[in-house]
Amino acid sequence: MTSPSFGSTLPWAEPSWYTGRPSPYYKDSHRRLRDAVRKWCDEHIAPYNEEWIEQGSIPTHLYAECAKAGLLIPIAAGKAIPPEWAHYPIIGDIPAAEWDGFHDFVLWDELVRGGSVASLFIGLVVGAPPLRHFASKSLQDKIFPEILSGEKRICLAVTEPACGSDVRNLTTTAEKTPDGTHYIVNGEKKWITNGMFSDYFMTAVRTGGPGAEGISMLLIPRSEGLKTRPISVIAGPLSATTYVTFEDVKVPASYLIGQEGAGFRQTMVNFNHERLWIAFQALRGCRIAIHDAFQWALKREAFEKKLIEQPVVRYKFGNMGRQIDALQAWTEQVVYELEILSDKDGARLLGGTTALLKVESGIVCKYVAEECLKIMGGLGLTKTGQGSRIESFYRAVPSFVVPGGSEDVLIDLGVREALKISMQAEKAKSRL
Ligand SMILES: Cc1cc2nc3c(=O)[nH]c(=O)nc-3n(C[C@H](O)[C@H](O)[C@H](O)COP(=O)(O)OP(=O)(O)OC[C@H]3O[C@@H](n4cnc5c(N)ncnc54)[C@H](O)[C@@H]3O)c2cc1C
Repeated sequence: MTSPSFGSTLPWAEPSWYTGRPSPYYKDSHRRLRDAVRKWCDEHIAPYNEEWIEQGSIPTHLYAECAKAGLLIPIAAGKAIPPEWAHYPIIGDIPAAEWDGFHDFVLWDELVRGGSVASLFIGLVVGAPPLRHFASKSLQDKIFPEILSGEKRICLAVTEPACGSDVRNLTTTAEKTPDGTHYIVNGEKKWITNGMFSDYFMTAVRTGGPGAEGISMLLIPRSEGLKTRPISVIAGPLSATTYVTFEDVKVPASYLIGQEGAGFRQTMVNFNHERLWIAFQALRGCRIAIHDAFQWALKREAFEKKLIEQPVVRYKFGNMGRQIDALQAWTEQVVYELEILSDKDGARLLGGTTALLKVESGIVCKYVAEECLKIMGGLGLTKTGQGSRIESFYRAVPSFVVPGGSEDVLIDLGVREALKISMQAEKAKSRL
């Protein structure tokens, strides 16, 4: 017996477990979450989405509504909600103790389907984890109530104009004042998502000498000397990509995240969830595109046939479907492994795998976006109407390929990590 299907019944438009097929990963609470997020997005986002895209911004008040709806806690938490956040609302009334990595996956799957609202949360997803995992309790107690209530916003600022993939060589400096109470920050950060509307910048800075050991993470409040200006990017303005400059910005020394010199490792650990989360988003992007392309192929006629009656068009759908299914299965496997492993073992064993998963997401997106665009014909290049979601997905593909670690860099990282694990296993065997 299968359960009734949820959402679209078009092939690959929803994950297979939505269609009623069995899965070992999803329980009632995942279904409840899926239903609640979809309903919330259909009511609060869908009716306004096109208008927001056209005007290039989302109304500020929506963020507070997101907090009230219980979206910010799980977004900031990722795969596990700490007990001290249990008193905040959580969408779908999922108990904090039950929240797991599959809830995180379902939440993002539905938010991305919901439309442009997902772009509001990018800074929170990547900026909050260093605060939660590495900051002092007193700093957490001060900052989290502000950002979890939606009163203030946070982003992650690592990349600089002259230093992206090569994080070890960043040059923004944070120098202690002679009395040791503050840091004075000088430098520049580039392509910082959500920076325009952020109050806090989780920033990688140089507090010591050259290389990785000289890097620290510092939470910098928007204050005198910190300036932001927008950068126009291919995917559009909604995620507020930002150029940040720091000119003698004075930051309390207590805003240091963990120890001086720990910033490089903190940045690398943070990347693992970011890369997995990019896979979540890529999957739903592909599903939206294939959904719209199917709808069109089932009704558009050319050469006295529906498009779907052309074997060449079916060949495209088959190739897209097998890649989407494979990406879903691999993503679920990684989510499952991270659920079972300790955080430390997850980071050690799956850093390279999540890098390669993120690469695969970009490659599948590139393929699906291009094939769907061709199926739509001219509509696939049009910003309004039936091809508009495919047009915007096509433009968004580079955002799955470069941010969070560029494709070429991550392929290399994946191999180096795999070899490292292989050598560790060999050594462990020889000790037996
Ligand atoms: C829209 C957008 C949003 C972003 N959001 C954020 C954010 O919120 N916070 C943040 O800190 N950063 C952010 N970034 C920055 C992003 O992480 C970097 O752009 C990315 O890491 C690549 O760095 P880079 O642009 O300096 O490219 P570079 O490091 O200069 O690399 C350019 C290219 O050179 C090649 N290359 C470089 N090194 C190697 C290598 N070792 N092996 C093989 N090939 C290599 C690759 O093809 C790479 O794509 C964002 C970027 C964009 C475009």
